[in-house]
Amino acid sequence: MTKKFLIVNLVLYILISCAGKVELAHEEMVAKVLREAPLIDGHNDLLIHYIWCQACPRELDAYRLDTITDGHIDIPRLRKGGVGALLTNIFGRGKEMNEYLKGWDLIYRIEEKYADDFKVAVTSSEVRQVMKNGKIAIIPSMEHTYELVDELGRLRTLYRLGLRSVILAYNNNNIADGAFDEPIHDGLTDYGKELVLEMNRLGIMIDLSHITEKGMLDVLEITRAPVILSHANARALTETERNASDQVLLKLKENGGLIMLTPVNYFTTQEAHDYFLVKLDSMSKVFQEKYPNPGQMSEEEIELAEAEWDAWESANPEPKVTVRDFADHFDYVKKLIGIDHIGIGSDFDGMYYLIEGIEDASTFPNILLELASRGWTESELKKVTQENFLRVFEAVEQKAAELQKVEQPRIAKVVSD
Ligand SMILES: [Zn+2]
Repeated sequence: MTKKFLIVNLVLYILISCAGKVELAHEEMVAKVLREAPLIDGHNDLLIHYIWCQACPRELDAYRLDTITDGHIDIPRLRKGGVGALLTNIFGRGKEMNEYLKGWDLIYRIEEKYADDFKVAVTSSEVRQVMKNGKIAIIPSMEHTYELVDELGRLRTLYRLGLRSVILAYNNNNIADGAFDEPIHDGLTDYGKELVLEMNRLGIMIDLSHITEKGMLDVLEITRAPVILSHANARALTETERNASDQVLLKLKENGGLIMLTPVNYFTTQEAHDYFLVKLDSMSKVFQEKYPNPGQMSEEEIELAEAEWDAWESANPEPKVTVRDFADHFDYVKKLIGIDHIGIGSDFDGMYYLIEGIEDASTFPNILLELASRGWTESELKKVTQENFLRVFEAVEQKAAELQKVEQPRIAKVVSD
């Protein structure tokens, strides 16, 4: 063995063992972060498994959360992922208020059934207490405004039930223009403005996800409290109306608000986004154009359509999106507006376009590990996992307490738009 060979080997050994130690240090740091500051996930769609799945509607025993489910979350994986709270989207089957209220009943029954693990929490101090007690807080949220149109009284009633965060439209136009629709309102409607002001007065967080950039800017112009984007990424890295532009992010910083970055692959890289659009187009060609009445398809037709679709998918493989691509959004937003405005909102159970390495609730630590490897510190990671969100929640509560001293409940002047 030559001397040179021995030296090369020694250097390699030192490099490998140093890398191993650094990795271990990162793992320990991430474990500590999640122990001391469990993750508050900005957006979860668990109820889809009781309300909107193929076998739905179904009861709690048909989809147990204390075992590994076929969705993205359940108690074992939330625990493994270091999750302390979930902003949980409450919805019903269809747009009827009656159906919507069933979603509320469900969420309170989940709390009752899994009392050792879940607790509905409707104030920032309750969220802190629930996490301190080793449980997972459920913070009720809403991802559209069908039930709120024309009547601010409903907002107040739902606040009393526990509603603490509202998205102003879900893709299609509602009280604001939806990000995936042809805009008709030029942003936020007049009624929407009343709704925003009343949410400020009540202490409900306004969530800018799913609306157009103009709608986001309209809200940022009039809100008296910080707002959130519970699941969106940076538009500068992935161009889509669903992500936040630099202008929105800079206003969000002024507002003291928060963007909770989301591991949906087509909001993370342009390649995945463009692929998604082509896929939607091809899907509509295969299914909608050839089979305009899916409910009336024969077994044979279903088989043919599925085979055709499988062939399309294998000829057009999905681009790979990694944790590193996702972490680029964290670096970008941090550089633009600072660490105090970043959180994580998974959209788990509500989307099927996952990032490699972030496949379910147990994999949250992978995001933090990647950030740690990029030099993010323990205190920065704690801001991301929960401190930024709790700061916003507290500020929203504080503003509401101030406003309630000087404002009466609003009666909307505009009945409809
Ligand atoms: Zn969504």
